[in-house]
Amino acid sequence: MSIDVDRVERLVRELLEAVGEDPGREGLRGTPARIAAMYCELFSGLDEDAGSHLTVTFAAEHDEMVMVRDIPFASLCEHHMVPFMGKVHLGYIPGHEGRITGLSKLARVVDSFAHRLQVQERMTAQIADTMEKVLEPRGVIVVVEAEHLCMSMRGVKKPGTLTVTSAVRGLFRLDPRTRAEAMNFVQRR
Ligand code: ZN
Repeated sequence: MSIDVDRVERLVRELLEAVGEDPGREGLRGTPARIAAMYCELFSGLDEDAGSHLTVTFAAEHDEMVMVRDIPFASLCEHHMVPFMGKVHLGYIPGHEGRITGLSKLARVVDSFAHRLQVQERMTAQIADTMEKVLEPRGVIVVVEAEHLCMSMRGVKKPGTLTVTSAVRGLFRLDPRTRAEAMNFVQRR
């Protein structure tokens, strides 16, 4: 565990003072401890090797596209340390040996990269790169759609605006029809 809980508590108390709050008042007394405990969960991905979740693969007579839609995630934007959250859609075309992974494993890869300070573009690429490296598929596609609270709560204040990012590798990059088939699946509502 790389989180120094006592230090986080101390600093949150100081932060509260710095913004003009009274960390001693009743509603805030437990806040530093609560935030420290929350950070242990929200930053847990830092200690993980995301790819390790994918090492359990099994051979299957399957060489068609595998698509998973609507994997929910929540992360913290590294520019403001407030949440951005949404859904990840991903797909891959198994390699020639047809090795595939469990769907829950893919969700754990998403969580592993979401549970650290992030930017959406990097998270999207990291998920795709990990799938490509571990599964050795013929193609990978990852699409992330998210609302950023740093955009909804402040600045331009446009609640409900979705930012969409994608990363495509292999066949999905080379073959427009394969990519279109996958995007069709992602956009189907
Ligand atoms: Zn932000």
